[in-house]
Amino acid sequence: MKIDWQAFRRARVARDVRFDGKFFVGAHSTRIYCRPSCPVPTIPDKNVRYFPSAAAAAEAGFRPCLRCRPECSPGTPAWLGTSRTVSRALRLIAESGLEDGGVEGLAERLGVGSRHLRRLFVKHLGATPSAVAQTRRLHFAKKLIDETALPMNQVAIASGFGCVRRFNATIHKTYHRTPTHIRRLARQRVVQPENQYLFRLRFRSPYDWKGMLAFLAPRATPGVETVENGVYRRSISLHRIDGYFEVSLDGENSGLAARVQFGDPRSLFFITERIRAMFDLNADWEAIMRGLRTDPVLVGPVEARRGLRVPGCWNGFELTTRAILGQQVTVKGATALAGRLVSNFGRRFSPANGLTHLFPLPEVLADAKLTSIGLPAARAETIRTLARAVSDGQISFEGIVDSEAFLARLCEIPGIGKWTAQYVAMRALGEPDAFPSGDLGLLRALKLRSSRELEQRAETWRPWRAYAAMYLWSIAGKSKARRTGPLSSKTPKTSLGRTASQQGVSLAV
Ligand SMILES: [Zn+2]
Repeated sequence: MKIDWQAFRRARVARDVRFDGKFFVGAHSTRIYCRPSCPVPTIPDKNVRYFPSAAAAAEAGFRPCLRCRPECSPGTPAWLGTSRTVSRALRLIAESGLEDGGVEGLAERLGVGSRHLRRLFVKHLGATPSAVAQTRRLHFAKKLIDETALPMNQVAIASGFGCVRRFNATIHKTYHRTPTHIRRLARQRVVQPENQYLFRLRFRSPYDWKGMLAFLAPRATPGVETVENGVYRRSISLHRIDGYFEVSLDGENSGLAARVQFGDPRSLFFITERIRAMFDLNADWEAIMRGLRTDPVLVGPVEARRGLRVPGCWNGFELTTRAILGQQVTVKGATALAGRLVSNFGRRFSPANGLTHLFPLPEVLADAKLTSIGLPAARAETIRTLARAVSDGQISFEGIVDSEAFLARLCEIPGIGKWTAQYVAMRALGEPDAFPSGDLGLLRALKLRSSRELEQRAETWRPWRAYAAMYLWSIAGKSKARRTGPLSSKTPKTSLGRTASQQGVSLAV
């Protein structure tokens, strides 16, 4: 990682919160590391050591500050300045920790040697993969101690320590205090109902929460998702346990409050990481906009909607199904179809604030008579083929290492074209450079006629084309160009050999 020491120094002296999570500050005298915005008195320069990651500080023998709680930093924008292999590895660690197979297993899944992977990690994050995984585990344990009333033996299991003794020893070694003492320091005032947890998930300001909800609200699948009074809520099911979560802006405007109702604490790490991805909390909007706001088309929308993010999704299969339902129909039409799909094929969910169902499982949709909900036969077949591929393991939306290979496989399904694939890359894989170039809404926003012209126009927005697409959709939405539909038959063939119109060109389903 290229470290700009002068910029770090300025950020540290100014206690600039925008740098939280981008680097960490260690004090030689106390051996404690902090966020740049830590309120403790500024450490003299000669006593400071900078770290590109919390794991690097931990590996150098520094302990996390109990005052500024470095574990509460907005996520490290992994894709800034790091290699693709490192970003992929971080994504896998976020999904499953280092549980299955350690560093060797991780390297194997990434198709690189473990020594090479270690070298890359040290180069970009200043720490080994095991240190990164271990720090994440520790930070999550600290979050559970501070923010929940979960019994300590459950905290140990939920944060991947395996046994209580190891958990107690690690916490004591790190913080020089027992877990119980740390919980007392956190002074939780509100007692949560059983199996309910309230997490504060920070972002790097600005964050356009209103814009996020404005995108999600018309697309909320009836029965599975609701958006009302500034709150997004949805039903979830993991390992045959059902639950739900709701997310709103926290009072201080520096993060989201996520209330999770779920019976198995072992899934809490996965759930909170998924919520972070879903709401694009790790993004560094200011850094992304440096490249985009110089474009005359984008400068207006960027200023009008500061902090716009790319909405992700809870489940890749659900999002892809939803994208297929949205081919060639309006957003409203797609939402109505999704509602019928859910009420016909989804499992019932004990009612909780407007949530009545769980999204149908691939096993159920694989053989479902989907034309009964008013879906054209071809699109029904596309969904069934996708569902079969997912249920028999040919396609998996979890643990994706190579997005391009994954998308190529997805495009082999008849009825899934480049547009759908790029939309999935954008919202399910979190690829910041994904770009559905055949999209009618995007073409309208720029008054262009073909996806080829749009692709050329979009070259300058790399590697942030997904963010540019979000801004262009906001322009298209404003001009009331809500009607969607195929491009004219003169549309040039895309690289995959199908015309855009065959792929279902839509204004962001
Ligand atoms: Zn501190």
